Amino acid sequence: MQDVVIIGGSFAGLSAALQLGRARRKVTVLDTGSPRNRFASHAHGILGHDGKPPAEILAEGRAQLEIYRSVEFRTAAAQTIGGEKDDFIIALADGGLIRTRRIILTHGITDIMPDMPGFAACWGKSVLHCPYCHGFEVADRRLGVLYFAPISAHVAAMLTDWTGDLTVFADGLPIEPDFRAWMVRKGVKLVEPKVAGVVQQNGQLSAIALADGQEIGLDALFAGPRQRPSADFHIQLALQMDPTPIGEVIHVNEMFETSVPGIYAAGDVGSMRQNVPNAMAGGNLASVACHNSLLD
Ligand SMILES: Cc1cc2nc3c(=O)[nH]c(=O)nc-3n(C[C@H](O)[C@H](O)[C@H](O)COP(=O)(O)OP(=O)(O)OC[C@H]3O[C@@H](n4cnc5c(N)ncnc54)[C@H](O)[C@@H]3O)c2cc1C
Repeated sequence: MQDVVIIGGSFAGLSAALQLGRARRKVTVLDTGSPRNRFASHAHGILGHDGKPPAEILAEGRAQLEIYRSVEFRTAAAQTIGGEKDDFIIALADGGLIRTRRIILTHGITDIMPDMPGFAACWGKSVLHCPYCHGFEVADRRLGVLYFAPISAHVAAMLTDWTGDLTVFADGLPIEPDFRAWMVRKGVKLVEPKVAGVVQQNGQLSAIALADGQEIGLDALFAGPRQRPSADFHIQLALQMDPTPIGEVIHVNEMFETSVPGIYAAGDVGSMRQNVPNAMAGGNLASVACHNSLLD
């Protein structure tokens, strides 16, 4: 019987494993090796790691964990979760079974690429989701925002700190009068027709193609595709969820415990504040709460 199984061995999961390993608890980390930011060549905004490739940061974390002998790593997909607090059973895709007293879910989210030619090819390269992660690298270039909901107005407002050449692509959607007036005031261009696709070569976009045949030259596009948890444990366990403007995340209390006792969640799958430092902090705090719950 393991003390804790961590499902997802990336930023949140490794951070949780570190604290539990230091507490000398028996831990298994299951991971399928697909962190969300694998599409980007470099990660930013992470103190001590700014500008490093994501895989390098994770490899460094894994290497530091090697001295904690009670932590076991398995390259395996968790498939189902059964049982209850103090005696959960996790079935793996390879047929294995693991019994554990606690579970921390850190399996992240999956960005759902829209059915827009060129979009997926540019994802993480020149179609970007976060100004803090990538804005500095494209500052003062021709930037665009793909409008999908009122929250896009906030992204546009942020991007005025990164460029004076900003275009909002309404993609045929209605634009609120306040946002329209703000764009006029700030000199932000509005392109209203539906977007037909991203004109690109090897992931570098050069223009946005519109349904009416026009092409608007651009260097980078900020977009917020919809997302879903990377596995279906929230459905299997009927976990309480919190809606977000682009999907849903697992609801956790202040101790990072989900609505099922003994199951914790951290990182992107359990938070709307989705970045690496927050995933690391969440994994750390969830593991401490989880460890405390194991004390007699
Ligand atoms: C293109 C892009 C660039 C980004 N750049 C930055 C950046 O510069 N700075 C920044 O702070 N943030 C960045 N982010 C956000 C960052 O990637 C996430 O916030 C971070 O990866 C979340 O970490 P996590 O551990 O919660 O999940 P993830 O890193 O997504 O890891 C989840 C892990 O769980 C594994 N897994 C999934 N299902 C299972 C299963 N059933 N069994 C076992 N394992 C499973 C996956 O393989 C994966 O390894 C970027 C995101 C994107 C999309």
